[in-house]
Amino acid sequence: MKKSLILLFILFLFFSNPITSQEVSIDGRLKPYLDNFFELCDQYDISYNEKLFVLKKIAIVDTLNTSSHGSTLGMLQRDKYQKVENIVVNWMAMLDQEILKIVAFHEFGHYFLEYDQHVCQDCGIIMSVVNTSYFDIANDWENQVKILFEQSPAYRKKINSTIISVAQNFPQN
Ligand SMILES: [Zn+2]
Repeated sequence: MKKSLILLFILFLFFSNPITSQEVSIDGRLKPYLDNFFELCDQYDISYNEKLFVLKKIAIVDTLNTSSHGSTLGMLQRDKYQKVENIVVNWMAMLDQEILKIVAFHEFGHYFLEYDQHVCQDCGIIMSVVNTSYFDIANDWENQVKILFEQSPAYRKKINSTIISVAQNFPQN
């Protein structure tokens, strides 16, 4: 009896706890933007699967700071070990689909493209600290996406490693 219980327990652990991935909860309202973002990652050959599957959720929430002096439109939430566990967007961003897309791309950029810092205070690109004109960014979208990806730490790291490996194949002696 005991033995079979232990076996059952081991089987339970085996099937209930796949080591490779957990279920990531993705808000349906952000899903189209995430899909679009991943298509771009594919184009730029930036991997995202591993990063995606360690997250708990990508969600729209009503718990972020909202005030007339300035609201937090999105953020990465970290666990006690400082590891990112959630990507959240303020419900306020939903007032306009273009703003929602820009805020989503900004947060995805922080996480998947490894922007640890903002590029500037308010210089009219997706990775600014604030954007006084979301409208300008929305109207310049293709170019904005190009800047976001080509200047990202993740992409630069990739390019640099390619340059190094080419240099190794063609040493200049
Ligand atoms: Zn930011």
